[in-house]
Amino acid sequence: MSAQQHRNKAGFETRAIHAGYEPDAATGAVIPPIYATSTYKQDGVGGLRGGYEYSRSANPTRTALEGNIAALEEGERGFAFASGLAAEDTLVRALCRPGDHVVIPDDAYGGTFRLFDKVEQVWGLGHSPAPVSDVDRVAAAIRPGETKLVWVETPTNPLLNIGDIEALAAVTHDAGALLVVDNTFASPYLQQPLTLGADVVVHSTTKYCGGHSDVVGGALVVKDLDLAEKLTFHQNAIGAVAGPFDAWLTLRGLKTLALRMERHCDNAERVVDFLTSHPAVGDVIYPGLETHPGHEVAQRQMRRFGGMVSFRVNGGESQALAVCERTEVFTLGESLGGVESLIEHPGRMTHASVAGTDLEVPSDLVRLSVGIETADDLIADLERALD
Ligand SMILES: *Cc1c(COP(=O)(O)O)cnc(C)c1O
Repeated sequence: MSAQQHRNKAGFETRAIHAGYEPDAATGAVIPPIYATSTYKQDGVGGLRGGYEYSRSANPTRTALEGNIAALEEGERGFAFASGLAAEDTLVRALCRPGDHVVIPDDAYGGTFRLFDKVEQVWGLGHSPAPVSDVDRVAAAIRPGETKLVWVETPTNPLLNIGDIEALAAVTHDAGALLVVDNTFASPYLQQPLTLGADVVVHSTTKYCGGHSDVVGGALVVKDLDLAEKLTFHQNAIGAVAGPFDAWLTLRGLKTLALRMERHCDNAERVVDFLTSHPAVGDVIYPGLETHPGHEVAQRQMRRFGGMVSFRVNGGESQALAVCERTEVFTLGESLGGVESLIEHPGRMTHASVAGTDLEVPSDLVRLSVGIETADDLIADLERALD
């Protein structure tokens, strides 16, 4: 077993820090350089050093990230893209053809819904929404022979519904389709869908993987080598790749993923405790609550329950908007998964594109991305905003 293979079998934190890169042979650099180069000198025609010929096809900084995220997801191959949506679009083009069909979550990330509804559909790919928490309804939405992908988020955004990945993989495979899991909300630290039967993991690495709100990126991870070959071809042929600096930032973020996720979870649990007893707050939605309908499944397939918390504010949309505008430690903004806490109103912000469709979210809903600040400061901030 090579040193690299050995590292790929090590514990999560060890893999996060070492997988995908050996200290540079020439200089001993412990961290991969940002290879800001588009092309590579050939030793005679076709004489490539290390397989690199042009940076759309491959770049050493991106290779390091791709190896790292593959090891974290316990997959065989990783692919890094310019954004989560670039990863999704490349995946769909690699695996679907006009006339095919995809099942998507009925509360999918707004950008994912828009991609299927406004872009892929124009090219002849159909889609049907189904609730990921109801395996029977997902199975009923599958069209045998036509459905190529069952696309799942768990937890979903922003309602934090939980899909049973093992059960979803079974019904998907029975129908000859592939199960895609968008693992952005859980991150590979909390959940590894490939080990539960999923075929492809999708990430917006913009969120927890990068973790510092300083880079937009996406990734795909697979374990099957035929799938990997198709993705290698399409990643290069379409060209929506991560640049070397973006890859470097994301790799830097992944090294501390385990530590950050533990604190995100600790703080989210404290915030949930506070919100559940507050008189101005209606339902609190968090998979760690025993009252959450997906709690048991989440407990089985996740290490902990994550940093995302949603809640409904008594008094309707105007009160929900007011809370979002009154916090000071929680920054009003889209996105999630960074070290800083964020607050947003999904109905008017991240999910505005699904207003008026079946995917519309409640207007009194507030979503928190609980950061890694001092928990007492987060609670005091919410207390002020809710008064
Ligand atoms: C943000 C996000 C995406 C899209 O990723 P980008 O990096 O913004 O393109 C996809 N899925 C989920 C769950 C997300 O939160």
